[in-house]
Amino acid sequence: MIGRKEPATRWAWVEIDQGALRRNTRAFKNLLGPRQRLCCVIKADAYGHGAVACAKVMHATGCDMFAVATVLEGVELRQGGIEEPILVLSEPPLTAIDTLLEYRLMPSVYTSEFALAYGERAVSLGTVGKYHMAIETGMNRIGVHYTEVLDFRREIDFHRGIQCDGVFTHFATADESSGWDYQLQRTRFDEAVGALRDAGFECGIVHCDNTAASILDASSHYDMIRAGIGLYGLQPCEATRPVFPLEPVMSVRARVTRTVHPAMGEGVGYGFTYRVPRARVQICTLPVGYADGLARTLSNRMDVLYRGQRLRQVGNICMDQFMVAIQQTSMRQMPEAQMGDVMTIVGRDGDAEITMDEMARLRGTISYEVACGFGMRLEKVYC
Ligand SMILES: *Cc1c(COP(=O)(O)O)cnc(C)c1O
Repeated sequence: MIGRKEPATRWAWVEIDQGALRRNTRAFKNLLGPRQRLCCVIKADAYGHGAVACAKVMHATGCDMFAVATVLEGVELRQGGIEEPILVLSEPPLTAIDTLLEYRLMPSVYTSEFALAYGERAVSLGTVGKYHMAIETGMNRIGVHYTEVLDFRREIDFHRGIQCDGVFTHFATADESSGWDYQLQRTRFDEAVGALRDAGFECGIVHCDNTAASILDASSHYDMIRAGIGLYGLQPCEATRPVFPLEPVMSVRARVTRTVHPAMGEGVGYGFTYRVPRARVQICTLPVGYADGLARTLSNRMDVLYRGQRLRQVGNICMDQFMVAIQQTSMRQMPEAQMGDVMTIVGRDGDAEITMDEMARLRGTISYEVACGFGMRLEKVYC
């Protein structure tokens, strides 16, 4: 598979394994009963994997709804031919209302000012604006406070221009589904939904689970789950790893653009943070840098794979390029590289593998951020 397809203009690319994406999506679908829905979260260009291309695979695998973070992400999906319902996971500014209605994007709503303006505009266009009501149950990020849901709905429900298509909350600690904080959010959510129903308000689709909660707590699936990171084959936390196998979807590869054997003592890269320690060290340049999501904090700390073996990255990572060293040791004879050889930055090569999680650990972050980063500038090829 390595290098089977690649961009014409650059010796660096992201590979997206559509088969793995399909199997991961199917695995989430299989968690659900026949009346429960799968919402695929494809915000941030599908966590860097390419939103429209991923949405097409998910559509073919039984996805019922898509969720995005911004209005323009929703527009991109509509322009790419996606017809499923699309939920925007926050309340956009009032100035976004025309775009929402034009492209049939459902906002998350939590202020009456937005809800009424949305309804007014919908009526004037002769349509009805669907929305999902976000409920604040403890994360303290967005939503109507769980104790105020009835007041909120009494303020807006008279309006014939809006229709509640769903109510939802979001967990702050879904990775610890037996923990007290998670349980408290669940209880508050149940309370709020129960109060709405008892008072006769339409709730539509009730949902709260992200990837971690979907896997760890089947009792919280309600009418729909919102799966994100797991679709891309990445584990949201250690607890899910043993119980829900997933296949990584993204690999990052590049071809060697130059090789050189500097003399002992020569420096490599900006600031000479690495110096060639002895004779017969080959330095290879790869055309990927921190503007491609390869964080500069990884400098002199990460490895790449070449012919199924690990090589040390050396010198400071530049904006668009970085270097690796091939050193012969008494322990290990390494074949030297040639210009044009493929190296793997994330993914498998033979028996060796560099995971998003390895890179996240080295960077002091989570795989989500690493994957989004690689999606920023590198061209994607779909295999
Ligand atoms: C990002 C997001 C999700 C998906 O979370 P994962 O951990 O990637 O599964 C679900 N719901 C909301 C509101 C989100 O912002």
